[in-house]
Amino acid sequence: MKWLYRCPSCGSSYAIEPGRYLCEACGKKNAPGIPLQGVLECVWEGNFVPEASSPGLAVSASPAAALKDIPLPVESGFFPPLPVGNTPLWSPSRLRDALDAPGLWLKDDTCNPSGSYKDRASWLVAAFARKHGIKEIALASTGNAASSMACVGAAAGLKITVYLPKAAPAAKRVQVLQYGAELREVEGTYDLAFDQSLAYSRATGVLSRNTAYNPLTIEGKKTASFEIARDLGAWKGKPWAAPGHVFVPTGDGVIMAGVVKGFEDLLKLGRIDRMPVFWAAQAQGSSAIARALDSGVFEIRPSSTLADSISVDVPRNGSFALEKLKKHRGRGVQVSDQEILEAQKTLASLSGLFAEPSSACAFACWLKVRKSIPREEDVVVMLTGSGLKDIAFAARGIGCRL
Ligand SMILES: *Cc1c(COP(=O)(O)O)cnc(C)c1O
Repeated sequence: MKWLYRCPSCGSSYAIEPGRYLCEACGKKNAPGIPLQGVLECVWEGNFVPEASSPGLAVSASPAAALKDIPLPVESGFFPPLPVGNTPLWSPSRLRDALDAPGLWLKDDTCNPSGSYKDRASWLVAAFARKHGIKEIALASTGNAASSMACVGAAAGLKITVYLPKAAPAAKRVQVLQYGAELREVEGTYDLAFDQSLAYSRATGVLSRNTAYNPLTIEGKKTASFEIARDLGAWKGKPWAAPGHVFVPTGDGVIMAGVVKGFEDLLKLGRIDRMPVFWAAQAQGSSAIARALDSGVFEIRPSSTLADSISVDVPRNGSFALEKLKKHRGRGVQVSDQEILEAQKTLASLSGLFAEPSSACAFACWLKVRKSIPREEDVVVMLTGSGLKDIAFAARGIGCRL
């Protein structure tokens, strides 16, 4: 099997090697204030043969077990030794009963090592670094990507340099420092942090894990789709099964693009026979992708939502995610911060799963549109980050003074 980067816009392909990020031709169209152009996709040529690994190993097991049956552009032997992914698919019976929603499933990525979905991308990027003898990775983040890369870097023995806006929630900053990464605080927004970290990577040659810019961040985030199809299949007594609908909390659109790519791979491999409907769940104050789905164009506005992980002015992976959504009848939903607060409490108190605002947004979006989905269809809500990462937000929803 041969892996390549391919540009979805012009079809150019490139070797997957250090120093390659964007498509040479389409990357020239980049300009401030628009989504990244020339974002590359990982593709393989030839037949995929799953690597042999020990069956039946659970979450704490080796990388090889977690990656079983998932085609990835880095061999499993290079993945750092920490239990990323293989997260549970909850069948929340009390919540289902309370809301009369028998087809509701929760994909619980709060139990990744650093507490968020970002570990899936960090893990693949770290494996790539190890394969190529790279010792340092730099990135910009609103918080979770930083704490995630710092966490995975600690397990892998990599130096991690993080550019983080000063306003990032305290728990995420504390995580970064506990894991031993270098923290560079930025006086400004995530967008400024993004530019500063890229300038650092370009000047030093350090590997960039900037979301969307490094195509492996998208590919790493496809892994949850394989787990969903496998675990839903297991519930139904089949090897694989696709849900009818997947709700994805969306900021830059990297998780969304990765999740869609995962199901595209599953379809290509013949493991599923239809694509789910994908719902881009966004906060009203940061909804560029949902709005572009309606209007066809990106109109950039300054973001204003308390859901920090999905608060972006310019969705970095907006163009790539939008193409994927359009191809598969994807839809956008928006909710207010108040709806997110209420949904967070509903979810926690009726299921036992305490998720951060971005994830509560996905749940809130499902609550908003669920009547339009036939009751018996399988719906997966992706819960991407732990509620403990931002207790200042959660405290507002329950009138608790900190
Ligand atoms: C980053 C993040 C998101 C949004 O992912 P994008 O790829 O930016 O759309 C959602 N939830 C959590 C917990 C995150 O950290």
